Amino acid sequence: MKTSRRSLLKKAAAAPAAAAVGSAGAMAPQPPYVAWNRRVPVRYEADIAVLGGGIAGVSAACAAARSGASVILVERFAITGGVLTTGGVANFCGDPDGVGEVFDAILRTLREFKAIHRRKPEDPNSPESVFHYEILAIILQEMLLQRKVKLLLHTRLADVNVSKGVITECLVAGKSGLEAIRARQFIDCTGDGDVARLAGFATHKGRVKDGLQLPMSLMYFVRHVEERDAAVQLPAGWFQPVRAKDELPMVSIWPDGPRSNAIKLKIPMFDSTSTEGLTAAEIRARRRMLEILHYFQAVEKRPWLLDHCSPIIVIREGCRIVGDYILKVDDLRAGRVFDDGVARGTFYLDAHTVDEEKRTYLLPTDQLKVPPYQIPLRSLIARDGKNLLMAGRCFSADQLALSSARVSTSGSMMGQAAGIAAALSVKKKCQPRECDPAEVKKIVLERGANLACGEPPKRFWP
Ligand SMILES: Cc1cc2nc3c(=O)[nH]c(=O)nc-3n(C[C@H](O)[C@H](O)[C@H](O)COP(=O)(O)OP(=O)(O)OC[C@H]3O[C@@H](n4cnc5c(N)ncnc54)[C@H](O)[C@@H]3O)c2cc1C
Repeated sequence: MKTSRRSLLKKAAAAPAAAAVGSAGAMAPQPPYVAWNRRVPVRYEADIAVLGGGIAGVSAACAAARSGASVILVERFAITGGVLTTGGVANFCGDPDGVGEVFDAILRTLREFKAIHRRKPEDPNSPESVFHYEILAIILQEMLLQRKVKLLLHTRLADVNVSKGVITECLVAGKSGLEAIRARQFIDCTGDGDVARLAGFATHKGRVKDGLQLPMSLMYFVRHVEERDAAVQLPAGWFQPVRAKDELPMVSIWPDGPRSNAIKLKIPMFDSTSTEGLTAAEIRARRRMLEILHYFQAVEKRPWLLDHCSPIIVIREGCRIVGDYILKVDDLRAGRVFDDGVARGTFYLDAHTVDEEKRTYLLPTDQLKVPPYQIPLRSLIARDGKNLLMAGRCFSADQLALSSARVSTSGSMMGQAAGIAAALSVKKKCQPRECDPAEVKKIVLERGANLACGEPPKRFWP
């Protein structure tokens, strides 16, 4: 049974995996092209345009605005927060202390709303990390507006204009049609390196040998019900219900308030940066959700009713933009400190195997821990551009380094640092790599970031 499920998985993923290999170097057949030419209104001008409103983008926009820059933030969905809100991942990982003033304000406001709790409510030493993601979405939008960030929701980045490495405008598509945003500095916080890819700047994707990315996951939520009959049934002939525990893929069950659970389901081997790969992943994820829910309901007899599923599958790794420095896993293992260190990572190497549905890691579990390490400003500056910074999941790192640094606390730190560097560039009328990193670091520290590297705070290990 195990073998047939694995071969099924391979079959389901074959097309997207092949696409990943193609983009990693093999010759793919070229489609026919169509040329188009249109005049697009420059509807917005700002000092800094932040593309993507996840925790990295919100932190970048808030930090740049605090430095006095005019900032516009573009987000394709109805709310900001990305993986943490739209994706339903309602938990902060890494050290929440000393991330910086933007994250401090988020934590403080979540507490005021009584919308954040300890991971293990009965253990006073367990970190305060589990939050209400609908409340987080509202807090993030209000923080952006309070800092006078111009917010464009339901607006997707569609293209960029580049001249000699300088991005002059980005083209966005919202309900008003195609419009251009002109800015002096751009920050790619799309998680997938969309700005860099559209600009033709170098990116890396996935595992070196075949481009396979860290697996995606789907978050779905169940309510506990008295009458088991209320649960949705999987009709005969639909999909391939899981019938025994050893057939289960990696499934994590989290508390989600009274009489409710959040369930995280691993979906490996799809390319999150290809239209067809992402479509195939979403289809597979929703099928698997029902197949697995059927097991919990019919075999384990859990009184679970499907409440809702996140509208998007959540992506751990899209494209990593090649920066002036590529942060490597060996830097993490050494707890490396950089002259231009502007952010800090405090989480373990959370790297699940890329081609296996089960709970397995790319490294033996005794090799997953790393001490706190710094993230240099150079890894937040796109190598091939003059005015493109990046933060969050698409910063410049190898796959294993990303598996640690992608979490929300370091994502917020990177965003804050990128926002500060972009605003400093605007003020000094120079490009980010011409700024004195010591000056960026000084502001980062003044804003409450802790860049100390030493013994790991044990409570943040798995
Ligand atoms: C399954 C899973 C579980 C995780 N668990 C945890 C956890 O427990 N704790 C933790 O701290 N971290 C966890 N992480 C990691 C962490 O949550 C994310 O990596 C982090 O939140 C990413 O932040 P980000 O801003 O870089 O990217 P994202 O949150 O992905 O934000 C990117 C934003 O850009 C927008 N966007 C993308 N493309 C475009 C475009 N073309 N135009 C306009 N907007 C665009 C997206 O809609 C999104 O809002 C998890 C990640 C996954 C996938």
